[in-house]
This record gives sequence, C-alpha cells and structure tokens, in this order.
Amino acid sequence: MSDYVFERPEGLPLPTPTEEAQPYFDALKERRLVLQRCRSCAARSYPPRAMCPECGAMDFEWVESKGIGTVYSYVVTHQAVHPALRGHTPFATVEVALDEGPRMTSNLLDVAPDAIEIGLRVIVEFVPIEDQMLPYFRRL
Ligand SMILES: [Zn+2]
Repeated sequence: MSDYVFERPEGLPLPTPTEEAQPYFDALKERRLVLQRCRSCAARSYPPRAMCPECGAMDFEWVESKGIGTVYSYVVTHQAVHPALRGHTPFATVEVALDEGPRMTSNLLDVAPDAIEIGLRVIVEFVPIEDQMLPYFRRL
C-alpha cells in the first residue's frame, strides 16, 4: 500500500447530464451506483443511453450496482491535455469492469499510476464535487 491520494484538479469540467442520464446522476447524489437494464433483453449497460446496445430496445429500468469490479484496462497520462491538469500529471484513468458486466471509466483514489495492475479488485467511492457526486474507485 502506498500513501497515494488522487485528487481531481479544480477547474476540470464537470459532466452535464443528458435527459437519459439524469436518473443516474440523481442516484449518485444518494451514493448509489445504478445501471440501465433493458426490459427487452435484460442486458445491463453503461453509460446511460436511449437505446439498448445489445438489442436496440428503448425501454429500460434502473438497477443498483454493488459498485465492485476489476481493473480491465488503464492509461497513464503524462501530458496536461487540459489547462486544469497542469501540475497534476502523471495520472491514471482506469476502465473498471463492474461485476454486473458494464465497464466504467474513472480514476483510482488510492493507487499510484505506476502501481495499478490489470485485475485489481476495486470498489466505488462517491466523491462530492461542487453540486455533483462523482463515482471513483479504490482498492477493495
Ligand atoms: Zn436489450
């Protein structure tokens, strides 16, 4: 274990929820991670969208995720690709495969970029930023 702490740089743009994604962001504010489940084929999907990526149906329900998954992939960024990132590189962006199936892009709060491993088990942690709540992950 290291004492690494990821901190989201101030000034980085926040997500703007679409109409389809609003229930997802509302759930985050209650510290719940939800996924869409297609009422036609039962596929769970992320990110929120109007049409099921598996069967094309447009009828969903929201189901809660346990927020536990595995690091599926990651990339370490060394260049400040946004002005707010100056002084905050290198940082890692991870793709987490949730146990329910869908994969989410996020950051690890407690694992340094050079210590991340594919297959690492992680759990969601909700971090309040301005008027939103965003899902990050930490080592399980
Ligand atoms: Zn479907």
